[in-house]
Amino acid sequence: MSTDSTDEQTNAPVSSDCTDGSEASLSQHFKDGDIKFRSSDNVIFQIHQKYLEMSTGGFPSCDVNGSTAATTQDEIVSLPETSFVLDVLFRFVYPKLQPDLFDIEDFGQLMDVARAAEKYIVYNAISACQLRLSLFCRDFSPKHANELFDFAAAHDHPALLVTTSKSMIHKPLEEVAHKLTADTYKPWSLYHSRVLLACNSILGATGNGRCTNDTCQLEKNRQLINQSPANVFYIKSKLQAEYYTKPCCSSYSSWQNAKAAGVRNLPDFGTILRAHRKQQSRR
Ligand SMILES: [Zn+2]
Repeated sequence: MSTDSTDEQTNAPVSSDCTDGSEASLSQHFKDGDIKFRSSDNVIFQIHQKYLEMSTGGFPSCDVNGSTAATTQDEIVSLPETSFVLDVLFRFVYPKLQPDLFDIEDFGQLMDVARAAEKYIVYNAISACQLRLSLFCRDFSPKHANELFDFAAAHDHPALLVTTSKSMIHKPLEEVAHKLTADTYKPWSLYHSRVLLACNSILGATGNGRCTNDTCQLEKNRQLINQSPANVFYIKSKLQAEYYTKPCCSSYSSWQNAKAAGVRNLPDFGTILRAHRKQQSRR
């Protein structure tokens, strides 16, 4: 199941009817609260209102005063999320040991929980999801980088943006401009510009003589950049390790003397973002 992203900032449909006619079951973990919610797969969750009000900010209200409380004791608020997602989410609502999202291995399920956490503003779940998604991105990037970047941009989560930044550097600025907030777009465009400059210095490098080495360092670097501009960070790490080694040819040597500093000192997005924020806070 996947939640439509356009629905994320709106209240979920509220209904006291069971839509599929099947018999509802009661959640094993949440069965003594004063507010009832129904999942899309027809499981009833009874949640204590006081905890909902204390640790969440976006569950749909049933009465005209905007309180989370249902109008009658028997009214049930239907939510579009599955019982799996709601079970994880409601465990973040109570003042108990928080659930360990490390146990969720399926990326789709994790994203469903993360989207629901944002939608219903479950504060503890929002932080936990960001952390778990960052680890997911680190381990499985760039497989889910696009989706994670869009999610991080939509909810303005800088740490998550940083973890996807190397995989997303190939995106044209006009594409990310519509996704990032104005405040995050500025450091992103600086980051984009620094990476492109470093890549162009490698692609456009010329030298005095033809290299006879089959594995010419300069040619190898050109191939890497042609594969992906994100490889400039790999070249940076190699450059730092090979700083004192002998260049393979005069072309590489010329590039190393004139241009390599732009790659060696290339900052990652996190560094640029932190510097930008520091500058903003001084104003
Ligand atoms: Zn060479």
